[in-house]
Amino acid sequence: MTDKLHEECGVFGIWKKNGQDASLDIYNGLLSLQHRGQEAAGIAVCNTYGERGNICIHKDMGLVTEVFDEAMLNDLQGNIGVGHVRYSTTGDSTIRNAQPIAFQYLKGTLALVHNGNIVNASDIKSELLKDGSVFHATSDSEVIATLIAKIRAHTGSIEEAVREIIPKLQGGYALIIMSPRKIIAVRDPWGIKPLCLGKVEDGYVVASESCALTSVEAEFIRDIRPGEIVTLSKNGMASDTSMCTEKTSHAHCIFEYIYFARLDSSMDGVGIYDARFRGGMALAQAHPADADIVTGVPESGLTAAEGFAHASGLPFVRAFHKNSYIGRTFIKPTDKERHSAVHMKLGVIPGSVSGKRVVLIDDSIVRGTTISNLITMLRKAGATEVHVRISSPPFLHPCYYGTDVPDNSQLIANKYSIEEIRSRIGADSLAYMRLEDLSTMVEGAPICKACFDGTYPTGGTK
Ligand code: SF4
Repeated sequence: MTDKLHEECGVFGIWKKNGQDASLDIYNGLLSLQHRGQEAAGIAVCNTYGERGNICIHKDMGLVTEVFDEAMLNDLQGNIGVGHVRYSTTGDSTIRNAQPIAFQYLKGTLALVHNGNIVNASDIKSELLKDGSVFHATSDSEVIATLIAKIRAHTGSIEEAVREIIPKLQGGYALIIMSPRKIIAVRDPWGIKPLCLGKVEDGYVVASESCALTSVEAEFIRDIRPGEIVTLSKNGMASDTSMCTEKTSHAHCIFEYIYFARLDSSMDGVGIYDARFRGGMALAQAHPADADIVTGVPESGLTAAEGFAHASGLPFVRAFHKNSYIGRTFIKPTDKERHSAVHMKLGVIPGSVSGKRVVLIDDSIVRGTTISNLITMLRKAGATEVHVRISSPPFLHPCYYGTDVPDNSQLIANKYSIEEIRSRIGADSLAYMRLEDLSTMVEGAPICKACFDGTYPTGGTK
């Protein structure tokens, strides 16, 4: 749907034994991470037994299936590699900013993929520019790559260079670096961005979400710890936890659980489906509705709707059919165009809602255009009342960690009271999840909820 927040990226990395082929696994991993970014995709591979530093890379704008075909994958020869799907928040949406980024420097060759946003990237970039560094793109990822190359020039190993950059980077990031012989994965010390580790028969896999491990039949080992550096090489898997400090409070992005992550993933010990179901239950307990049926906006509101139905005792009903064959509808700048995109994607099932008082669940309201259209469609199909329940609190603040929250002027909750929003979207009643129920969703796991309460885990107003 168009009136949604967007996650920035998905990352995938794999180390397999000599003679094994990594590119198809990376392709499959990226397919399962496609929901995290649809603007560009890329793969870089390397033979650990080949000529040192010979990295083979392909990236382009588009979906994974549009960027790669079989012949291209056959050309990407290597037993280790990294892959990326991108939705741009920093930097332009152009091929210049597509990943992986591969570069040569004093000590050899590296390729890098990155998910997240570095809050102090412009300060680091200014310092690097003063030192004579040159930048070709406009993304944070290039700043990280350049910093690693600079520090690696005076350290004994790539791992040491990575250890040195961690205290310099403020923000949320999941980073996978491929050197000619190793894969190195790093997660930000707050654990804002997700990253997990799995085992395949001939090696190891790291990915943004556990669903990507399943797609290559990897066994889930564990989530990578906030601040941990994991190295995959011919010596197996090595973990460096020297940068994991108890002083840094952990803060996993709650929006992964509310909306971004795939239903069959789990993050930091919490299943995404379970979290959304619990969210729906908490919503029903805090804001019950006098209604006949409960339904959800596909796909994002369905699981919370099931939870709401379970807790309220009302029947859960599918009220919308989603057209799965429509492909992409392009993001339109005007409300009028957004209206037609909603109608193209969703149709109401009249028999489900005619003559009924409906509870309609969605995960969020950003601008309010989508939900308003859906309410009109339900009424046209005969719904007598529409009570909207949102399985997240109102968005009030920007995200600095790689989620594309529109600026304040476009956030409906910033401009209007809840009663005003109810009236504008045409609902009979409207209620949002309470802030304290976010914790219930994830069973007390530490979370970032800065876009709701303005308290940023990395400190200050950012
Ligand atoms: S500010 Fe919101 S979207 Fe950004 S990391 Fe925190 S919870 Fe996630």
